[in-house]
Amino acid sequence: MEKIQTNRLDRGFFKYQDEFEAKALEVLRSGWYILGKEVSAFEEEFSSYIGTKYCAGLASGLDALILGIRALGIGKGDEVLVQGNTYIASVMGITVNGATPVFIDPDEYHSIDADKLEAAITDKTKAVMVVHLYGEPADMDKVVAVCKKHNLKLIEDCAQSHGACFKGKMTGSFGDVGCFSFYPSKNIGAFGDAGALVTNDEEILKKVKMLRNYGSEVRYYFKEVGMNSRLDEIQAGLLRVRLSHVDELTKEREQFAAKYKAELSNPLFTLPPERENANCVWHQFVIRTKKREALINYLNEHNVGTIIHYPIPPHLSECYAYMGYKKGSFPLIEQYADEVLSIPMYNGMTAEEQDYVIKVLNDFKG
Ligand SMILES: *Cc1c(COP(=O)(O)O)cnc(C)c1O
Repeated sequence: MEKIQTNRLDRGFFKYQDEFEAKALEVLRSGWYILGKEVSAFEEEFSSYIGTKYCAGLASGLDALILGIRALGIGKGDEVLVQGNTYIASVMGITVNGATPVFIDPDEYHSIDADKLEAAITDKTKAVMVVHLYGEPADMDKVVAVCKKHNLKLIEDCAQSHGACFKGKMTGSFGDVGCFSFYPSKNIGAFGDAGALVTNDEEILKKVKMLRNYGSEVRYYFKEVGMNSRLDEIQAGLLRVRLSHVDELTKEREQFAAKYKAELSNPLFTLPPERENANCVWHQFVIRTKKREALINYLNEHNVGTIIHYPIPPHLSECYAYMGYKKGSFPLIEQYADEVLSIPMYNGMTAEEQDYVIKVLNDFKG
């Protein structure tokens, strides 16, 4: 059997090939390629999907974080509480702005442990960033309550949680800003880099739209030193196609997850728990095991791919060596980094592929 990879982007393309190809040709023939009617239409459709008033299309998820934090006025001398088990981009969004990340332990659902927020608040704390990691929403009741009580801004990193809800409300609609990535492997993926910021605050929207285009609102009048984070028409058009199918794409992932949960039964690893009152969208299906190295090798021998999200937590990453953290600084975060393993999960996975993955995993003897 051909190796079963953790993700197959081609399957996502072929699912709606005719629609993608028609849209790409339409944009190519339009003569307009950056920030045009496809971008505006996508911004409207996406904010309406998430349930916010506004959306700004951007060049990447990292840019959404960078510009969102900047638009909130957070910078040098400010502290942002963020879970320590996240992709590096969450933290870079903070540090690129000159602010300081304060790492918080995760709860058992891999999201920020809301019960540990208050103890970390100082007079420099300006915001909390939650990351709905792997598609599982954080406990937004508790997070929102802490932010309200202490007058903190709330930033949501939704790069892995398109369509995930907490008590029926979409992730991305709780915070002052919701930051999305449409990197090709995300639940709503473009065919290149793309991102977006959603908000209910018109001033934030205006500021982000200005900053994405060199700090200009009126052509060739530059109010601030901005950046180039414009979204292409072709990516926006293709994202509109993907967005029009998002419910069926999410349902398919839910079905794969339900099957994994029903049929994986090996005591050598644990399955991802699901938060009550939340709908996970299964960006990744992440198991945890003390036998990770042996399991990876075994799965490789049996043609099943895996990935670790993420092997080195941000506080131990070389780029943040200057912060002075050592191994042992955050034992729980490090334990997660040592035990998590993502198994194949992608739209278009066949029943045969999933049955094989389940059988091989259940046969693992350690
Ligand atoms: C992918 C990702 C990002 C960054 O998105 P890009 O589009 O790659 O810049 C940020 N945060 C998390 C949690 C991610 O998974």
